[in-house]
Amino acid sequence: MRYLIALDAGTTSVRAFLYDIAAREFVYRAQQELGLSFPRPGWVEQDAEEIYCKAAYVLRDCLRAADGDVAGIGIANQRETTVLWDRETGEPVCPAIGWQCRRTGEWCAALDEGVRRLVGERTGLVPDAYFSAGKIRWDLDHVPAARRLMKAGRLCAGTVDSWLVFRFTEGRSFVTDVTNASRTMLFNIHTLDWDKDLLERFSIPRAILPEVRDNDALFGEVRMRDGVFPIAGMAGDQQAALIGQGCFAAGEGKITYGTGLFVLFSSGETPVRSQSGLLTAVGYRMGGRSSYALEGSAFHAGSAVRWLRDGLGLLSAAAESETLAASVEDSGGVRFVPAFTGLGAPHWQPQARALFSGVTLGTTRAHLVRAVLESIAFEARELVDCVRRDGVPVRAVRCDGGASANGLLMQFQADLLGVTVDRPHEKESTALGAAMLCALALGMTDEASLPSYRRAGTLFQPDPVLRGTREADYRDYLLAVRRALLVS
Ligand code: ADP
Repeated sequence: MRYLIALDAGTTSVRAFLYDIAAREFVYRAQQELGLSFPRPGWVEQDAEEIYCKAAYVLRDCLRAADGDVAGIGIANQRETTVLWDRETGEPVCPAIGWQCRRTGEWCAALDEGVRRLVGERTGLVPDAYFSAGKIRWDLDHVPAARRLMKAGRLCAGTVDSWLVFRFTEGRSFVTDVTNASRTMLFNIHTLDWDKDLLERFSIPRAILPEVRDNDALFGEVRMRDGVFPIAGMAGDQQAALIGQGCFAAGEGKITYGTGLFVLFSSGETPVRSQSGLLTAVGYRMGGRSSYALEGSAFHAGSAVRWLRDGLGLLSAAAESETLAASVEDSGGVRFVPAFTGLGAPHWQPQARALFSGVTLGTTRAHLVRAVLESIAFEARELVDCVRRDGVPVRAVRCDGGASANGLLMQFQADLLGVTVDRPHEKESTALGAAMLCALALGMTDEASLPSYRRAGTLFQPDPVLRGTREADYRDYLLAVRRALLVS
């Protein structure tokens, strides 16, 4: 067999990539955009049927391009988004509740101290509307058909991975993997099973949840006209990117500069409980061994650059931010805090709002743009500092996501972290992670060989001469953050 398929079921699009096993690279890709709906302020929904149909479409597209010469399919997917469906007909019961949806914020806020502690101890998470438990609870409380199906023993509740596998296998497999399960707020990351006590507290029966497998497991078989293809290897998108970036040893991590900023660092075989506002995640489970990670995210990164372009009209294209920022030596004392919708980790302050500080009559467009780019690197520094404070020494920083194309930003990041920032040859780390898991699950490779799948691209080395200046810049940024927090 010549190819593998990596399916990346994201939030705004689903994409399938054809991976040439011998050449070790993607040779074809198919993409379909996904709709999002916002029925009320703060609510985010998606059409689960659309996610499945478009995933099936891009999958078929890749199979055609490969002439059916495909050994298996690996899946990476947006996490937390919750789907409820009928086990007998495979039909969704209601719209999928998106990961960004805040409708369960009050439910989370009302959880008592005992439950909050239990959630922290068992799941490594901080209770938040982000995670699936509240979304499942909301559907059970508000959708009569969901309750009816549950009573009849026909209800399935799962994340996008489970939903896709169920439909791809025509209901033969109702499964998930440890990384997706670990984002539900129902999964015990120590025993690697659904947590009996949490299920009880949230009144969610275990029977409606999928079976949990390791990331390098077989998840089912897709029967198509041109053959039967195993779904082999699956992980949530951030963890798939961690794998695709070859971050296997403790202290190796990746920073994704997408719409938001996602920082994930491997922390080794025992979970590290963060004391600094990060989450503890299951990094992956392969070869029967678990590896954990620390995770932190900031809501806005590339979206701030997009705002410069679309909201302020300061840029004609995102890439122009680099040339413009490079036209000035520094931000001229201007600082920006991208708290458009509050601040995420480590501040967890939804009321904070974005601000520019230090603006003078000498401030130009270039200074503002540079301050925005620098703010992205400062956010990452805050999160990486948390990783360090939690006792995980930072040994390697790898980057991906749309804004990692910005060389100035990456160099600034390296100077600010005092660590080399490594931008890989293959930009699609998430899809590469899914392909690697697939190869592993099919026995085409072993764990020891996985790091060799990632090819280095550009290395941004920290400039020791700039160390002092960057530290002063960072202290200045933290003052601006204090001001943004005062707004609340
Ligand atoms: P996502 O997967 O979260 O939708 P991407 O990883 O595709 O996001 O990254 C897109 C984001 O990256 C956009 O918000 C865009 O503003 C930003 N971006 C793209 N290119 C650049 C660039 N050269 N410099 C700075 N930001 C950029």
